[in-house]
Order: sequence, then C-alpha cells, then structure tokens
Amino acid sequence: MGRKASYQCPHCSCGMTIRNSRSVHALLRNIFLQCSNYQCSFSAGGILEITHEISPSARPNPEIRLQTIKELTERKAANDENNE
Ligand SMILES: [Zn+2]
Repeated sequence: MGRKASYQCPHCSCGMTIRNSRSVHALLRNIFLQCSNYQCSFSAGGILEITHEISPSARPNPEIRLQTIKELTERKAANDENNE
C-alpha cells in the first residue's frame, strides 16, 4: 500500500504526509508535513530526531554516539531522585 509512517493532523485527525525533509545532521531532520484532507489543507514544519538506541547497528558509524534505552532510563531515575 506504500503507507508511510506519518502524523495525524491536529485539526481534522486525517493523516499528514511528509512533503519534504532536510537533513540538519545525522540524527536530526527538519520535516514539512501537509494534511491529506484537501478541505483542511493544514501544513506545518517540525523536527524528526533520533534520540536513543534500541538495538545496535552491525555496521556502526564511530561518529554516532547514542544513549541506549537503559542509560536513558537510569538517567531519568537519577533525575527523579534529585527532584525529591
Ligand atoms: Zn487536517
């Protein structure tokens, strides 16, 4: 079906299509979304960011250093303790 992962329009709840995207760096892209409902036609810009690693690459790029989900969870737990 060629269905792409996409956002739901915040106004009419129809699917939004990624019309364009521009690389900022390896982990960050600017994206431009447009509502697929012609009666709505909402369009917006946003950011798509890779924030953490779930499973490591078999061909890792040495310049990419991502937090694992474990590190992320541990850091959050530490922050929660500090806030009390
Ligand atoms: Zn819409």
